[in-house]
Amino acid sequence: MKVYNTLTQNKDEFIPNDQEHVKMYVCGPTVYDFLHIGNFRGAIVFNLLRNWLEVKGKKVTYVYNYTDVDDKIIKRANKEGVDSSVISERFIEEFEKDFNRLGLTPHEHNPRVTEFMDEIITFVDDLVKNDKAYIVDGEIFYAIDKFSDYGKLSKKKLDDLEAGQRVEVDVRKKNPYDFVLWKPSKEGEPSWDSPWGKGRPGWHIECSAMIQGIFGKETIDIHGGGIDLIFPHHENEIAQGEGRTGCQYCNYWMHNNFINMSGEKMSKSLGNVMKARDFMDKYHGEILKYLFLSVHYRSMLSIDSDRIFQVISALDRIYSAVELANNVCESVEGDGTVDKNFQKTLSDLNMKIMNSLDDDLNSAEFISFIFEGVRAFNALGFKTKKWNANHKENSKVFKSWIHSKGAMAALFQEDPTEIKSRFDEILIIEKEINIQQVEELILKRKIARENKNWEESDKVRDELVNIGIELQDGIGKGWTIKK
Ligand SMILES: [Zn+2]
Repeated sequence: MKVYNTLTQNKDEFIPNDQEHVKMYVCGPTVYDFLHIGNFRGAIVFNLLRNWLEVKGKKVTYVYNYTDVDDKIIKRANKEGVDSSVISERFIEEFEKDFNRLGLTPHEHNPRVTEFMDEIITFVDDLVKNDKAYIVDGEIFYAIDKFSDYGKLSKKKLDDLEAGQRVEVDVRKKNPYDFVLWKPSKEGEPSWDSPWGKGRPGWHIECSAMIQGIFGKETIDIHGGGIDLIFPHHENEIAQGEGRTGCQYCNYWMHNNFINMSGEKMSKSLGNVMKARDFMDKYHGEILKYLFLSVHYRSMLSIDSDRIFQVISALDRIYSAVELANNVCESVEGDGTVDKNFQKTLSDLNMKIMNSLDDDLNSAEFISFIFEGVRAFNALGFKTKKWNANHKENSKVFKSWIHSKGAMAALFQEDPTEIKSRFDEILIIEKEINIQQVEELILKRKIARENKNWEESDKVRDELVNIGIELQDGIGKGWTIKK
């Protein structure tokens, strides 16, 4: 498998330190509010990565942290007149609801900063003893000039940094880019006892402390996060980790790109910022996952209502095939044989899927191969409705194929009839379809057909087609919104 490594700026062959066991860490959320859909891109992408590594036979230990000590949490706590832990516990719980609703694989560890305070203090103390950090007025700064590799991840040069630096300089810092490891707590802020008095950690130290606290001081395999974290957060993590141990902190750095919500094209209710919770209520978690994985994780993803309609249409095609397979399995008795060509197509696709995911987790290509499988299945002559035991066998094989391939991405596990009807509900609202009118026409057509009045029934069908309804006699509720 190859992965694009921000550190080498190259697609590198992925070789874990321990061939059997991959150790990965992804920076998790600051828990002061519900999370925006963009916050879930990493969670969804790295979920596929961990599942793929497991399919490839590796044991994976995946650590995803919660930042529960932060200015934003303190601010909200003070506003609500509660302890910060009330805010962080509330939003960890809310995050976990969203996470579980998306059906992502649970992480092995979800450490909280508050649980790692001893590790953080020991870590900072080691850096002070190593002469990588200095103390001014009870505040501890990392001295980046003492770490010669500073800038190796973000490819920033210290000289450029100083020349280009515009921020107001803290005169206590030896270098403007020195960063806080520990600081005294202000009035009303949570604080912990330390050798430097009561205080709290800076942001960057938590990830390094959790990594070395959980995995030990050896190099981890994969560190992930959004590209906005490369500098300074991940650069500082390296400085801390390597400044403490003198050995490589992490071998492969993987970063997912942003999402872009194009305001003008967005439907009113979508807006420019959307919480994952609201997206799942308004649309469906499946749509969010498909949206993210249909684009390579290193590409910018633009979301607007047209794109969401395209995703619904694509998912509807896939789930229609699964629904058809279900119907065939339920209505045919006995066992048949699988079509040899179909079986060959699926095993070829399995190879192609493997190559795509091994190529820096190319999930967009992976999804295109799922479609090839759907097309091959649909071409097996189901139209006639005279289904036989061979049709049933092909349907069984197809269902289990799509189910197992989809599971890696947490996709295609829904009940097809239920999710298709959810898609209809979404489109009825988004495309402002008058559902009462539709139901009246459906009934009118039914009566006409019962009376064998074919002329009337055809006329009503045309009317339905004109308002965007597609009839599916004998499937599900018998009609769907054209997608
Ligand atoms: Zn982090």
